[in-house]
Amino acid sequence: MHSGAPVTLRLLPAPAGSGIVFRRTDLDNFEIPAIGRYVAKVSYATSLMRQGVLIQTTEHLLSALIGMGVDNVIAELDNLELPILDGSALPYVEALLSVGIRLQRRRRETVRVLHPVEVREGDKFIGVYPGSGYRILYSIDFPAPVGKQSACIDLAAETYGAYIAGARTFGYQADEKRLRDMGLIRGAGSENAIILDAKGPVNGPLRFPDEYVRHKVLDLIGDLALAGRRIEGHVVAERAGHAMHTALVSRLIKDRSAWELAHVPVGDETPEEKAPAVMNDAEFGAPALIGA
Ligand SMILES: [Zn+2]
Repeated sequence: MHSGAPVTLRLLPAPAGSGIVFRRTDLDNFEIPAIGRYVAKVSYATSLMRQGVLIQTTEHLLSALIGMGVDNVIAELDNLELPILDGSALPYVEALLSVGIRLQRRRRETVRVLHPVEVREGDKFIGVYPGSGYRILYSIDFPAPVGKQSACIDLAAETYGAYIAGARTFGYQADEKRLRDMGLIRGAGSENAIILDAKGPVNGPLRFPDEYVRHKVLDLIGDLALAGRRIEGHVVAERAGHAMHTALVSRLIKDRSAWELAHVPVGDETPEEKAPAVMNDAEFGAPALIGA
């Protein structure tokens, strides 16, 4: 998306309890766990950095993994930025479904929110509150033609694939030159983003009437994955973005009284952790292959 560099991504199963880990195969398999302490940059996309090694635009893959209930995976890539694909998380979801997702012999551990944590900056707001499951209420207010939209989703209801995954990123034609001058969106185009002028999408039609706010929910799920475990609580976001999402993660994680590591109760639909499945049970065979 931003670098325009070609990249191949492979998703490999990982043992229960290991979480989501990025691995740079072009840099001696250097690993960067998907956790908040490695957040490096948050304008226009979320990037992680550990010991000077960068992984850019992590949010759509992380969103697909959390949305599909995957807890443990190694995401191998041979360049610094994840593929943008069609600007949504749907190709990731399809790749995961094509190899399958398997249950692991360990009850899922979540970050259970115990008391509210909020971040406010001007008219932007985000907060997370105690509550069962993982629910998100998001409202946005962008210049025309987007305007005001809001969406509410309960991830426990397995709504991700149908309602969120397909929502694409969007950008205004008027901002294009400025962003390119900043060295951003070098890989962007009408095949991987909704491009807007004042009247509407120039490369329509939209996949959903409220595709814009659905994409913000998609981004939020991906950024909150950096808590290191699936969130158990209710999130409210107003006019937020990557910077607010990741600020909430670091404020939450630092406040040790605000959450606990908890096990999903037995009796819930799938209390076990999940990883991408492999054929023939070869630990690192048959990965999900995603080119860009
Ligand atoms: Zn996005």
